[in-house]
This record gives sequence, C-alpha cells and structure tokens, in this order.
Amino acid sequence: MDSPADFTEIRYERPSERVARIVLARADKRNAQDMKMLYQINAALDRATQDDEVRAIIIAADGPHFSSGHDLTDFGSKIGDHGAPVTGRGGFALPGPEGYFSREEEIYLGFCWRWRNLPKPTIVQVQGKAIAGGLMLVWPFDILIASEDAEFSDPVVAFGANGHEFFVHAWEVGHRKAKEMLFTGDSITAREGKELGMVNHVVPKDQLDSFTLAMAEKIALRPSIGLKFAKMSVNQSLDAQGMWTAIQSAFNLHHLAHAHNSVVHGQVVDPAGAAMVRSQAKVRRADPP
Ligand code: ZN
Repeated sequence: MDSPADFTEIRYERPSERVARIVLARADKRNAQDMKMLYQINAALDRATQDDEVRAIIIAADGPHFSSGHDLTDFGSKIGDHGAPVTGRGGFALPGPEGYFSREEEIYLGFCWRWRNLPKPTIVQVQGKAIAGGLMLVWPFDILIASEDAEFSDPVVAFGANGHEFFVHAWEVGHRKAKEMLFTGDSITAREGKELGMVNHVVPKDQLDSFTLAMAEKIALRPSIGLKFAKMSVNQSLDAQGMWTAIQSAFNLHHLAHAHNSVVHGQVVDPAGAAMVRSQAKVRRADPP
C-alpha cells in the first residue's frame, strides 16, 4: 500500500500544497466500511502523517451519504488480509468471544483511537447520513463540517448492545442527548449537532468542499509544532477527564452484549434489530415536516 494508486476503496488527494484529502469512494455501497476500506483509510492517514509537507488532513466521502456503517457482508475478511494489525494484540482467529473481542478491538476501537491521536489536524466533512459505524469515521477527527442535510445516528441499541464500538457519545453530544440518541435510535441533524457542540459549522451542500478546504488551508499556514501541541493539549484535557478509560469500559460492555446475543440468539446481535430500525425509519419518513 505504498502508492495512492493502490487504493481501491478510497482516494488520496492533494487539493493544495499543504493539505491531504482522503475520500471514501464506495458511494454505490453508501460508503459502508469493509475491512479493506478501514485498512486503506489507515494507510492513507499514515501517508499524510509521514509527509512533512502536509499540515492538515481532510476526510470526505463520495455520494449522497457519508457512511451507512459497517459492511455487514464482510464477516469473511481476516485480520492481516488488508494490512498489518495496528493494535499488536493478536488472538484474532481464536474461537468465541475472545477472538471476536480481539477482532473488534483491532478494526474499530484500535483504529479510532489511533486516528484520534494522529499528530496533525484532521477535518471531516459530512453530507447525508452517518449511521452507527459511520460515526466511527467522524468522531475520531478534530473538526466536523456538516452540510445542511447531514444526519448522525447510532441505532445499535435495537440490536441488543450499548452503541457502536467507539463510545464517545456523551463527550460528543452531552450525556442527556447521548441517552436519547441511544435509547430511541433517532438521528441528530446538522443544526442540532451544532447547537450541541458536536458540529463546528453547517454549510450548504454545494459549499461543503470549498468551505472545508479553505479552513484546512488556513490551518495549514500555521507551524506544525503549534498545531501538534494544541491538538495534544486538547486531547489530554479529555484524557484527564477519563475519556479513554470510559471508552474501554463501554467497549467491554459492548462485548458482553455480543457474547450475550451469541448465547441467546445464536448471533452477535439481536436479529430483531434490523426490522425495528427499518420500520421506525419508515414512520419518520411519513412524519409531517
Ligand atoms: Zn461490535
């Protein structure tokens, strides 16, 4: 994965001298994340991080929707098929909850925490829906620019678990809204996200690229050491509040839920969840504006 030409699920772009842009390029699958895409995003972020010319990194997505979450057809991929493991934990092929814990610790929690701690500013631009695992390509990054049609949701409680695997909901939207979004599965709109402090700016869809690039270029004029230390200082403020410990605690419960569902339902999630989410989405579409 040495050259941007090797990427098939994403594109690696240099829209200006000091800015790299990583674009999710599976619009036909609503940018659902399979393992190959996650390792390619990680490789692209490494490439941008190790390029001293790059001072700011944009994460964007093709198509009407940012990401519909995990690609649930991709359970056949094995860790190591698409890149070297990043967590160094091993045990990925072990049977039962031990192996499944290791797998999700690598491709979800491990990637998200790694990306959250990259030493360069990251800006994510979101249009359309970001659902469940889709939020795991949004929340690890530093600044969030949303188009007016953006919606953010985590309906995973319907599948018998606490939420998706990078559990920062309470930090992102506040503890009361976090409970509402989890308990109901309802979406948070771009404007609600801005009121809650999750979204930095809401812009018309046709200005999403230009607004985000202009901010990245402004950031990229600043010295890398100032940017790096500012980011570390904010992140460490959250760490001092116990963010990493809380994320790990929620991840442990997430895997207790997977183990429970495996015993009770014979699969890692409650199979009734998909129909419940689909029927509630239909009700919402029928709601008066
Ligand atoms: Zn999971």
